[in-house]
Amino acid sequence: MSLDGTYDEANIFALILQGKIPSTKLYEDEKTFAFLDIMPQTRGHALVISKWSKARNLLEMEDEALGEVMATTKKVATAIRKALNPDGIQIAQFNGAPAGQTIFHLHVHILPRWEGDPKGFTAHGAGAQADKDALAALAEEIRAQF
Ligand code: AMP
Repeated sequence: MSLDGTYDEANIFALILQGKIPSTKLYEDEKTFAFLDIMPQTRGHALVISKWSKARNLLEMEDEALGEVMATTKKVATAIRKALNPDGIQIAQFNGAPAGQTIFHLHVHILPRWEGDPKGFTAHGAGAQADKDALAALAEEIRAQF
C-alpha cells in the first residue's frame, strides 16, 4: 500500500482508538490522541494521531485535523522536554511505504534527541519492543508535565 488506497478501519492505530488494543497514553483531548511508540527509536519516542480523520497520509488530511494534530504535537513535545530534558526534538511523518510508512493512519513522530546519540531513524520501526513496565513508568513521568 502506498500513497493511494483505502483507509483500513482495522489498522493498528484505529484499533488503539477503539480501545481494542492497549497503548501507553500520554495525552488525549476531544480530537487527538498521543501515546508512546511501542518500538521506541529514542527514549520518549511518541506518536500523535487524529481521533476522527480517516486520512492515511498528509496528502489526504483535512487542514483542520492537521492543525489539531500539530497543536497536540507541540503540547506533547513540550511535556517531553520538561520530563526528559532532551537537547533537541525531531518531528517526523512518513507518507507511503517507500517513505517508511508502515501504519496507514496519519501519525506524527516525536523523537527527543540528545547530544552524542545516534541521529538515525529506522523506517519500518526499531525492531525491538520496549518493556511494558518501563514504557508505563516513562509515560507517567511525561504525563506529570502537562
Ligand atoms: P511509521 O513507520 O511512520 O508508519 O511508524 C509506525 C510506528 O508505529 C513505528 O514507529 C512503530 O514502532 C509504531 N507502532 C507499531 N505498533 C504500535 C503499537 N501497537 N503501539 C504503539 N506504537 C506502535
